[in-house]
Amino acid sequence: MISRAFSKVNKNQLIKTVTTNRIVSCNNRNNKSQLIQSFSTSTENNNNNSNNSNEQNQQQQQQQQQHQKEQQPKKLIKELGFFGGLVAAGLGGFWVIDMIVNDDFDSFTDKFRTRLPESERKKRPKIVILGTGWGSLCFLRKLHTDLFDVTIISPRNYFLFTPLLVGGTTGTVEVRSIMEPIRKYCKRADADDATFYEAECLSVDPVSKKVKCFDNSAVKGEVSEFELEYDHLIVGVGADNQTFGIPGVKENACFLKEINDTRNIRDKILDCLETASYPGQPEKEIDRLLNFVVVGGGPSGVEFTAELNDFLQSDLLKTYPLAKRINVTLVEALPHILTIFDKKIIDHVEKRLQSSNNTKIWTKTAVVGVREKEITVKNTSTKEESVHPYGLLVWATGNTPRKITTQIMQSIGSDVQNNRRGLVVDDYFRVAGADGIWSIGDASINPLKPLAQTAQVASQQGRYLGRLFNQLADEMNNDLIKKRENPEAHKEQQKEKQQQEKANLFNSITGSNKSFEEAVKEKPLFRYKHMGTLAYVGDHQAVAEFKGDHSTTVSEGYITYYLWRSVYFTKLLSFRNRALVSFDWLKSSIFGRDISRG
Ligand SMILES: Cc1cc2nc3c(=O)[nH]c(=O)nc-3n(C[C@H](O)[C@H](O)[C@H](O)COP(=O)(O)OP(=O)(O)OC[C@H]3O[C@@H](n4cnc5c(N)ncnc54)[C@H](O)[C@@H]3O)c2cc1C
Repeated sequence: MISRAFSKVNKNQLIKTVTTNRIVSCNNRNNKSQLIQSFSTSTENNNNNSNNSNEQNQQQQQQQQQHQKEQQPKKLIKELGFFGGLVAAGLGGFWVIDMIVNDDFDSFTDKFRTRLPESERKKRPKIVILGTGWGSLCFLRKLHTDLFDVTIISPRNYFLFTPLLVGGTTGTVEVRSIMEPIRKYCKRADADDATFYEAECLSVDPVSKKVKCFDNSAVKGEVSEFELEYDHLIVGVGADNQTFGIPGVKENACFLKEINDTRNIRDKILDCLETASYPGQPEKEIDRLLNFVVVGGGPSGVEFTAELNDFLQSDLLKTYPLAKRINVTLVEALPHILTIFDKKIIDHVEKRLQSSNNTKIWTKTAVVGVREKEITVKNTSTKEESVHPYGLLVWATGNTPRKITTQIMQSIGSDVQNNRRGLVVDDYFRVAGADGIWSIGDASINPLKPLAQTAQVASQQGRYLGRLFNQLADEMNNDLIKKRENPEAHKEQQKEKQQQEKANLFNSITGSNKSFEEAVKEKPLFRYKHMGTLAYVGDHQAVAEFKGDHSTTVSEGYITYYLWRSVYFTKLLSFRNRALVSFDWLKSSIFGRDISRG
């Protein structure tokens, strides 16, 4: 039994070997010629020799097979290495371009910087930063936190990417995708962490150098107010919504500045449609509910009108039978919308928006009164007034200083701080009339070199000031030691300095503080680099304007729309935000925008 089984196994193995050899000889084209060659040789030889040569052939084949088997993984590794190298080079290239575009090369070179030893970090200047917006965050990102003791105060614990905020009102992007937790930026692996307090700054005392803050959130503990001392205060609180004091605006209009505003607007659009659909709703009331008014023909107002139109055409008309009755009116007091742009762009956008049956533009029209369900407007040429019912009113008419900015201005004195736009600063962003207060972004204005209130300006100013502080760290420290050694003399010097500044606003060198002042003046001045102005105008079209020294280039249409998207994609601060926003864009283009409320 055993020998039978054994012989059966041997037979099977023999058949298997022969089959394998055949497959190998068929499959292997390279070996084929050798096989033929060996076959022809074997026929010339006698039968005894042919057996030997067959064995040799088989051995050769086996060796080649073995060699091939050994070579295959190496080849795979080589190919993988090549493609991996390509991907790595692509990512590396993108990273370098990204750093250049975002002026962020020093975030890499700083990794090799020598840090201030831990033992010397106790006596560093105290810096308090107000705000977590464009200016403040860009300042913080450039600051060497080993050289300063940094505290940030803001009523919101996140940074908001405002250029894509309008998309949040209709659900083109989800609002969480354009928010970044500020604590992520407080955490510094390479130096000291910055401290963050979620609070609103109520007041600043420029003489005692203290800020008073309070907790304006829903959850309050036993301590809801506190004071902090500063050596240097950075005011980056942005600006408030401009209402021109028109009665009823604050109570009835939706603004377009914060995350809550976008949720509020989206909810109201859908609520108006749902309420209009009630059985028995009078026709007049349906018309009122579906009359949407946007006040302000600047980039924010125009972009919102365009987004609303997209939302209507692509999503609402498909699901709400009444959506075709929606009427969008863009109201602007000036003769044209988008006045910061070139005339060619203005004409193009005005035509584009009005080509939609649902959209109208009222220029030379000023809103003079707002009530719960109607607005009163006045034609600026004829002075005629008329009343219009509305369901949704969106207010996007520009900026005015925040309460805290006005408080700082008043505490310094209206003889120095008297600009309607905000805190008057010099070329280095030092607030005129105050010692150790600096201001950037929408909260400040250099009357000699005024710039637009944009994220582009605020971010460049923040980066400049962060770098300036790093360069001035030594002088700031010496200055601080002097103050601590003789506080009374310092107070006197402060008063003297303020008086001198008031007398000579932009030439504020004081004898007491000369070394620091001189050090500041030696530093390069801030130079704003304008990268162009872009705006989305609806239906996958955008407009762009690039101003050179002698010429202006304008562009409009679909390609500009992709440029608009690419620019904002690269400007998003983190890879997380970039991934989320790309996903949102893809999601809304495939599945449409979400039309559920809440
Ligand atoms: C809808 C919209 C779209 C925009 N689109 C563009 C665009 O496409 N391109 C562009 O360049 N600009 C754009 N802007 C303008 C840009 O957002 C602002 O110019 C920029 O945000 C100003 O930066 P900032 O740092 O001065 O203030 P902000 O970014 O507004 O930040 C202010 C910070 O201060 C905080 N704060 C407020 N009060 C206090 C207080 N009392 N104490 C402490 N902290 C306080 C706020 O919570 C916030 O964190 C847009 C603005 C809006 C509203």
